[in-house]
Amino acid sequence: MIILKTIAATQQFIVAEKQTGKTIGFVPTMGALHAGHISLVQQAKSETNLVVVSIFVNPTQFNDPKDLEKYPVTIEADTEKLIAAGVDVLFLPSVAEMYPNAASRQMDYDLGYIDTVLEAAARPGHFKGVALVVKKLLDIVTPHKLYMGQKDYQQLQVVRKLIADFDLDIELVSCPIIREPDGLAMSSRNVRLTDEYRIAATELSKALFHLKKDIANQTLPAARATAQHHLNSHPLIDVVYLEIVNGHALVPINHVNEATNIAALLAAKVGGVHLLDNIILKP
Ligand code: AMP
Repeated sequence: MIILKTIAATQQFIVAEKQTGKTIGFVPTMGALHAGHISLVQQAKSETNLVVVSIFVNPTQFNDPKDLEKYPVTIEADTEKLIAAGVDVLFLPSVAEMYPNAASRQMDYDLGYIDTVLEAAARPGHFKGVALVVKKLLDIVTPHKLYMGQKDYQQLQVVRKLIADFDLDIELVSCPIIREPDGLAMSSRNVRLTDEYRIAATELSKALFHLKKDIANQTLPAARATAQHHLNSHPLIDVVYLEIVNGHALVPINHVNEATNIAALLAAKVGGVHLLDNIILKP
């Protein structure tokens, strides 16, 4: 695996590799890698000739400076995991490389409705930062295929819209959520959960699994209310939102036959840690 820290070196390397006919698979991350990230790498390896992973803790997507400060950084362990997974290139830029000046932190791009609801409402400005960094990374890496996790469901829709709006010739591949054996969705933030909160956090996925069963014989609002009530009654869990939405547009829906893609999206604060989970109710 080669490690490239500058945009120029990365662009040069990729142009040369593309000239030999290779297809490029790209997995953007913020590091603190776990099996969820590695599953994206494995899928990229199985479908493309050259796999590029980026590790960049993007400051513009953190609306809470404390969350940025606390974000785990484990670059040596990450490097070992990526080598073991057979990654070809690790793009590891500094903040100064990605954002050399104030103007480079701005992008005049309006995501519209999806940047007003759910995670966007809970973390204003978050997806503007995500769209900005993903656009920059895609311009540098110019992948054929981009691999992202369904775990960050709304982010996936933001990037889907970004690719469409900028007419980028990139295939977005949505990869399934990798979970701990007890159901908790893997996340770099899970290391911040103390034992008590780690146990409480398992209730999030349990509530979603129950909700999926419940919609067989309950209306969507009733199943949603049951799950919300269950989570609200737990003293260590603060639900930020639990919504059943049309999977791509993220518009709340009340009837299964209203949409082809339906997902239940959940965010909760557990011990001060903002955790996300979701489940596809209708693919
Ligand atoms: P992050 O480092 O948290 O920005 O995540 C980088 C990529 O890994 C994103 O596309 C995430 O959706 C994906 N990812 C994070 N956690 C998981 C998981 N548990 N299963 C699958 N993909 C994940």
